[in-house]
Amino acid sequence: MNENQPKLFTCRSCKVEKSSAEFRKDSRMPYGVDYECVDCRKCRRRTNGEYLLERARKYQKRKGDAVMHITVNQLESLLTNHSCSYCGDPLTDKNSTLDHVFSLSQSYGGANIAGNLTQACRSCNSAKGTDHVADFYRRSDKFTLTLWTDFVRSYTERLIGRAITDIEVEYMKRNLLDEADELRRNSKRKDVATNE
Ligand SMILES: [Zn+2]
Ligand SMILES: [Zn+2]
Repeated sequence: MNENQPKLFTCRSCKVEKSSAEFRKDSRMPYGVDYECVDCRKCRRRTNGEYLLERARKYQKRKGDAVMHITVNQLESLLTNHSCSYCGDPLTDKNSTLDHVFSLSQSYGGANIAGNLTQACRSCNSAKGTDHVADFYRRSDKFTLTLWTDFVRSYTERLIGRAITDIEVEYMKRNLLDEADELRRNSKRKDVATNE
């Protein structure tokens, strides 16, 4: 076989035979390339919550490094919400706060940008503390499934800048819950390590 001839692989998703250049390199795979072509991978990830979460995180990271974090206009548009994102209670001048959805102190690196801020009542803000938002959803009685669904939708849409489908909302909810579990497991492992 001629070494210079590009190798051909059949994509498992579209079943089309394509040159190796159209597959991602993956050393874990038997032929050293991904089982599906780049186009199929892109297509699949576009409707996948994992991808949404990753994109949202990258966006936060990128913008969080910038000097200018939040504009007056962004702040004003955030403040047009008149109820708490987590319990739905009406907000007044007295109880209204801006919560960092992903705490700045945590390993998942919440950023000080508009996308990471949401309007919350003082009581939810302090009850949530530095917990992962999905953990707060799980333990707060007032953070109902409807509020959680609305929250995940608006949070994701603001970060990625487009409307998302109901299926994407469900993927995103699942992924946030999984992420919270994973972070808890990791921090437990760390505890174990320091105790030894
Ligand atoms: Zn394909
Ligand atoms: Zn609240």
